[in-house]
Amino acid sequence: MKAAPFAYHRPTSVADAVALLGEYGDDAKILAGGQSLVPMLAMRLTHFDNLIDISRVSELNNIDRVGDQVRIGAATPHAFVGLDDEVAESVPLLTLATPHIGHFQIRTRGTLGGAIAHADPAAEYAAVAIALGATIEATSARGVREIPATEFFTGLWETALASDEILTAVRFPVWSGRCGFAVQEFARRHGDFAIAGAVVGIQLDGGDRVTRCGIGLLGLGSTPLRATPAEAAALRQPVDAITPEEIGRLAVSELADIPTDLQGTSEYRARVGATMVARAWKQARTQATEGAIDA
Ligand code: FAD
Repeated sequence: MKAAPFAYHRPTSVADAVALLGEYGDDAKILAGGQSLVPMLAMRLTHFDNLIDISRVSELNNIDRVGDQVRIGAATPHAFVGLDDEVAESVPLLTLATPHIGHFQIRTRGTLGGAIAHADPAAEYAAVAIALGATIEATSARGVREIPATEFFTGLWETALASDEILTAVRFPVWSGRCGFAVQEFARRHGDFAIAGAVVGIQLDGGDRVTRCGIGLLGLGSTPLRATPAEAAALRQPVDAITPEEIGRLAVSELADIPTDLQGTSEYRARVGATMVARAWKQARTQATEGAIDA
């Protein structure tokens, strides 16, 4: 099947892209790497009269350290994020998450902004943004709006972006000190979206007390989620006071709409999710306490 006809626009600046979005409104859609949008157009699951391709907007393709944050332009491909030294040093959870996204070919075309704007419940970068407390920059003719990642994902494939806004960058806070990070997920085939998974960040003080922690959940709701009850139980406690299994149990304990589909029932997903959280917590804890990664 082929996509229905559309007009193709290829701006070279954010200002031009925003102007096009303002002009065409709901009849226009941003095209980034095309790894999610193009299949949907080709299968005629969606249609837009105008596609605004941002792949030639060079100001959206960059990675910069800005104070205690790393700012990543929306059109930066997954592969660049995964290979970047500054990201590996300052936001290692992104580096760990990248190989889990689809296949190599998808990672060379797909973009960080596209993965977050698409808002799939099993998107790794979305879960990382939630877990670390990232900030999303949305640009329109009205200016730049900052949206906390925890408020960005509003429903299945829905976000807080207005129809005239472009996601221009995501700013990830740099967690420093005694930290550990881990990503664990389960998919039946390599490259598939995870059935369930978890991304974890832990920061400890000198006495092994948890000073900061973030747990992002994949595939366990209609949006990527933050495991707030598990985080609250661990925060300010000695890291060994609570077992990884208990953290896993708490992480899924209050989830209201775990999906059931051909991949598994909600009960199955909850069990897999709890196990993934427990494994990721254990791995991150080992790195934070010993500076080593326990696989
Ligand atoms: P596009 O496909 O171009 O756009 C996707 C949506 O986001 C569209 O609605 C578009 O309008 C919107 N959009 C894109 N950029 C912006 C922007 N800057 N501002 C506003 N709106 C924007 N993803 C995962 O996270 N994990 C996986 O495991 C995974 N597995 C995959 C497996 C397969 C076989 C395939 C085909 C894809 C998979 N993906 C996975 C999706 C992939 O990562 C996509 O690249 C990503 O979801 C979308 O990024 P994109 O740049 O291709 O966006």
